[in-house]
Amino acid sequence: MDFDVIVIGGGHAGLAFARLLESLCAPRRPGLSIAVLDAAPAAAAVLPAEVGLRVVAVSPGSRTILERCGAWPLLPAGRIGPYRRMVVWHHLGAADGARSLGFDAAEAGVEELGYIIENEALRSALWHAPGSAVTLLPGIRPEAVQVGADEACLRLEDGRPLRSRLVVGADGHSSWLRQAMGVGVHEHPYGQHAVVAHLASARPHRATAWQRFLADGPLALLPLADGRVSLVWSCPSARAHELLAMDEEAFGEAVGNASGRVLGSLRPTTPRAAFELVARQAVRCTGQRFALIGDAAHRIHPLAGQGVNLGFRDVAVLAQQLAEHLRVPGADPGDAVVLRAFERSRRWENAAVSRAMTLLNAGFASPIPGLATAAGLGLGVVDHLDVLKRRLAAFAMGRQGEVPAWVRDDGGRRGPDHP
Ligand SMILES: Cc1cc2nc3c(=O)[nH]c(=O)nc-3n(C[C@H](O)[C@H](O)[C@H](O)COP(=O)(O)OP(=O)(O)OC[C@H]3O[C@@H](n4cnc5c(N)ncnc54)[C@H](O)[C@@H]3O)c2cc1C
Repeated sequence: MDFDVIVIGGGHAGLAFARLLESLCAPRRPGLSIAVLDAAPAAAAVLPAEVGLRVVAVSPGSRTILERCGAWPLLPAGRIGPYRRMVVWHHLGAADGARSLGFDAAEAGVEELGYIIENEALRSALWHAPGSAVTLLPGIRPEAVQVGADEACLRLEDGRPLRSRLVVGADGHSSWLRQAMGVGVHEHPYGQHAVVAHLASARPHRATAWQRFLADGPLALLPLADGRVSLVWSCPSARAHELLAMDEEAFGEAVGNASGRVLGSLRPTTPRAAFELVARQAVRCTGQRFALIGDAAHRIHPLAGQGVNLGFRDVAVLAQQLAEHLRVPGADPGDAVVLRAFERSRRWENAAVSRAMTLLNAGFASPIPGLATAAGLGLGVVDHLDVLKRRLAAFAMGRQGEVPAWVRDDGGRRGPDHP
């Protein structure tokens, strides 16, 4: 056997899974071998001076997972944008009005609600995290896969065969492995694109994640460590193309108006990009000698910033269940019982979060008279329901639901309503 486990896809989920499995298995399973192959080149150890355009909101629960992977200490402090407040409001109201919902780290008894981090910084930290069990194979794709009773065999595009007991598909929303294994998807195109850019704001962001539900989609201004904000504006695709085509002044003006001038006027400081938004849920995330994690298993609307966090939760559950199983000498990493347990643990939560994002997006942007208004009023109501609000915050912070106890119970950074 070439490796115990082969991971296809060296993005956030794939690298985190490989690093975490090594960390949870050590020192009980000497000789564990994991390969991660990625179509993209190796991640650079030193980040470019300019902050990358793609960023994600990382929850405190995901931070715990990244610490356990050995990756968190490698993130440059100057590239982590912590946020301590979150304000969500409706386009018919003001950010501090009756149709708004606010979360505060101090009220929740935690230091931060989350962190805005560049995709590339995260990948680089995970790529360069310490460890001896993980072999990184950049710049290569698999071409074929064959699964037998005892092993899975990949044929790489350069003709090399690669054998393992378990193959993990972490190859993103168009997953090659998912298709090669004949796993179907439930798909829901939103008819929206997310426009992203970084902007300088007249007023400081005050370590706050701002999100406004507009009549045709949500707009978020996320606080970067360097004082700027990162825009994620989900809007009908035709509008997104208009926004991409505007000159800088008109674009800044459009974002300023759409955000209700909550941070005053805004000036774009980067080029813009747009990503098509489609929800995609694999009908199953395991099968004979394979498992799917991260976007390969579920792609969701970015409105609540949960996509990468759900992927890290898959990572924590699968790595934990495998590490427990591998304590038995000679245990098979592709054991069907372990894979079924993973499927049971993650399916419900992943499907439920995806549906919740679709409902939220539809509710706020509904053409049905009264529904969008009711959704706006609902924000204000939730703001006064302490127990519900604390539950929502605990989930968003990654401290509740189907994750191992060490993710929920992280000493000094415990979330609200923690069991
Ligand atoms: C506009 C936008 C904003 C977002 N904001 C947030 C946010 O604030 N918070 C959040 O949690 N999530 C957010 N997300 C979602 C988040 O970006 C994704 O959920 C996350 O990056 C998925 O990680 P992944 O590792 O599963 O997949 P990917 O990051 O797509 O990684 C897949 C990897 O597999 C490799 N690969 C692909 N095909 C092959 C192949 N055939 N062979 C070998 N390698 C292959 C790729 O090179 C890549 O490295 C956002 C998404 C969008 C579009």
